[in-house]
Amino acid sequence: RDAVALREAAKPALTQDGVPVRVHANLGAADEAAPAAAHGADGCGLLRTEFLFLDRRAAPDEAEQTQEYTRIVQGLNGGMLTLRTLDVGGDKPLPYLPIAAEENPALGIRGLRFSLRHPDLLAVQFRAALKAAAAGPLRVMLPMVNDLSEFRTAKACFDACVAELNIAAPVSLGVMIETPAAAMLAEQLATEAAFLSIGSNDLSQYVLAMDRGHAALAGALDAMHPAVLRMISMVAKAGLAAGRSVSVCGGLAGDPEAVPVLLGLGVAELSVVPRQVPRIKQQARQLRLAECQQLAADVLSLPSADAVRRAVRHTLQGVS
Ligand code: PEP
Ligand code: MG
Repeated sequence: RDAVALREAAKPALTQDGVPVRVHANLGAADEAAPAAAHGADGCGLLRTEFLFLDRRAAPDEAEQTQEYTRIVQGLNGGMLTLRTLDVGGDKPLPYLPIAAEENPALGIRGLRFSLRHPDLLAVQFRAALKAAAAGPLRVMLPMVNDLSEFRTAKACFDACVAELNIAAPVSLGVMIETPAAAMLAEQLATEAAFLSIGSNDLSQYVLAMDRGHAALAGALDAMHPAVLRMISMVAKAGLAAGRSVSVCGGLAGDPEAVPVLLGLGVAELSVVPRQVPRIKQQARQLRLAECQQLAADVLSLPSADAVRRAVRHTLQGVS
């Protein structure tokens, strides 16, 4: 039965009305790539590169990073690797690059803000990514971007690395949409960033003003909240209007109840934990895009995440 399930998972996911839904895997270590591909992942929609930098005494050099990223590209078997640049901060400190203690690490020096303060580190990571792209398809993604000005600063560093290395393979540079600022400015970001990927974990933390690590808020912090879904809707519209691919790579993408809503909002690329890939593909195959669009439009007017979930369940009962 497992072999049958894996064969099924390896096939592309098409909705009932033939719309392709790409399901990628989120990875946090090199040896997760091949098993993710075996579970039917069409690629990697988020490589959390922090694993290479944490728990050691110095940053990995260009050769070590190139080797690790190359292994991951190879493990994905022709699928695209979306490599996210380092996303550390006060909550995930590096012992060799200490950050001054912060009252609110979630609002502090993290993600791209950290990288722009350590441009040498960022350039080494860009160079390693560009070299690994010789082994297969790879794109680079920036975390915690707020606006076009930050994107341009990072892009200038990226372009300088491309020029120095004189590489043939095209590697695109995209952004995560994880802050309300980035969502509000998605239209601007989409003019220059090659793709947009919504980090629903951080986006909901910042939109709902609820700490994602707060145990007592865990039940209430739900990315299916209409305020978060409206932001996602804006981002999807802006990305699609500019001809950019739009994906969701936060936990929301791996939630079967969210799949019809995301498809209906225009998000046809999902990146989920590897073991969820078969389930999410199966879910996409049950759905019809026109019905998802109607559902998505309706839920934006509901008063809470719970109400959104009830509406989704009601629709899904009619489907299966
Ligand atoms: C997110 O914020 O949704 C995301 C995918 O990034 P991370 O969970 O690594 O912060
Ligand atoms: Mg994040």
